[in-house]
Amino acid sequence: MSVADTHAALPDVRGTYREGADLSRTTWFGTGGRADVLFRPADEDDLVHFMATRPAGLAVTVLGVGSNVLVRDRGIAGVTIRLGRGFTSIAVEGHEVHAGAAALDGHVARQAAAAGIAGLEFLAGVPGTIGGAIAMNAGAYGREIADVLVRVRAVAPDGTAHDLDAEVLGHGYRHCELAGEWVFTSCVLRGEAGVKPAIEERIREIQDCRALTQPTKERTGGSTFRNPPPPQARAWELIDRAGCRGLRRGGAMVSEKHCNFLVNTGGASATDLETLAEDVRRRVWNSQGICLEWEIRCLGRHPGGAR
Ligand SMILES: Cc1cc2nc3c(=O)[nH]c(=O)nc-3n(C[C@H](O)[C@H](O)[C@H](O)COP(=O)(O)OP(=O)(O)OC[C@H]3O[C@@H](n4cnc5c(N)ncnc54)[C@H](O)[C@@H]3O)c2cc1C
Repeated sequence: MSVADTHAALPDVRGTYREGADLSRTTWFGTGGRADVLFRPADEDDLVHFMATRPAGLAVTVLGVGSNVLVRDRGIAGVTIRLGRGFTSIAVEGHEVHAGAAALDGHVARQAAAAGIAGLEFLAGVPGTIGGAIAMNAGAYGREIADVLVRVRAVAPDGTAHDLDAEVLGHGYRHCELAGEWVFTSCVLRGEAGVKPAIEERIREIQDCRALTQPTKERTGGSTFRNPPPPQARAWELIDRAGCRGLRRGGAMVSEKHCNFLVNTGGASATDLETLAEDVRRRVWNSQGICLEWEIRCLGRHPGGAR
């Protein structure tokens, strides 16, 4: 089906559809092709209506702010959903924070701090959305979202909305069982009573530590590979031992600062980045016999593959 035909077959919505939206503008890597159609639902009801009435077999992909994805150069088939303004609310009730899935993790951490809620400071170290954090079980500095998640609201592939207890999501290390075409729309996070200046100090420490250890000012996609289970070395150590720090392919480079991060030094294609990562995996395997697994989600049509 052509992009125009896909667009024409979509249900009427209150949000917006955009044909051929350039996704390199929305991913942290600053690379990638176009979405056949980008859908920005007005609110949850609009998303429910879209999911329930979309043409059978239409592929749907969800994006947060693209801080852990590599969108391939040939773009994403079907409809890419990006939650926006209707999903960014943050409200505090007691020691709980109710957050929309498009709220930024850093904003949630700061609002919790302002309300004297401790335990959510780690979110200040993750530059994605709450929806992305639930899907990736994002974590930093000894905590992950599964530790503080009470329940989520999510729209199923058939267009029904559900309130789900956190336990049923099957969270593991950077993993959530409820994947695929489920779309998280909001959640409740639970912290504990804390002292505001101490919480704010912890957030500053986390941000200073990130700036020292990660290429946060560069176009990157976060950790490329998952850490193998202990007692094996961490991914960055394996990559360093394999001599990959600073390795380049086109405009793509293994970060000198943190070698589990790839950076787009300017003009890198998604293919440059993906090929470089595969080269790193091969070198780690050949030198140390350990097979690194991708943490970054590679989305879209394979280079040279069928449409
Ligand atoms: C500089 C830098 C530092 C980082 N540091 C950390 C860190 O310390 N710890 C950490 O865990 N991660 C880290 N990351 C990775 C990244 O920020 C997290 O994985 C984040 O949770 C991704 O959120 P996002 O909104 O960018 O999601 P995206 O990257 O857009 O998407 C990631 C995955 O989540 C899915 N998804 C997104 N939103 C939804 C939704 N509403 N419903 C269903 N699925 C959804 C997507 O389909 C995709 O599979 C870092 C990234 C960068 C660039």
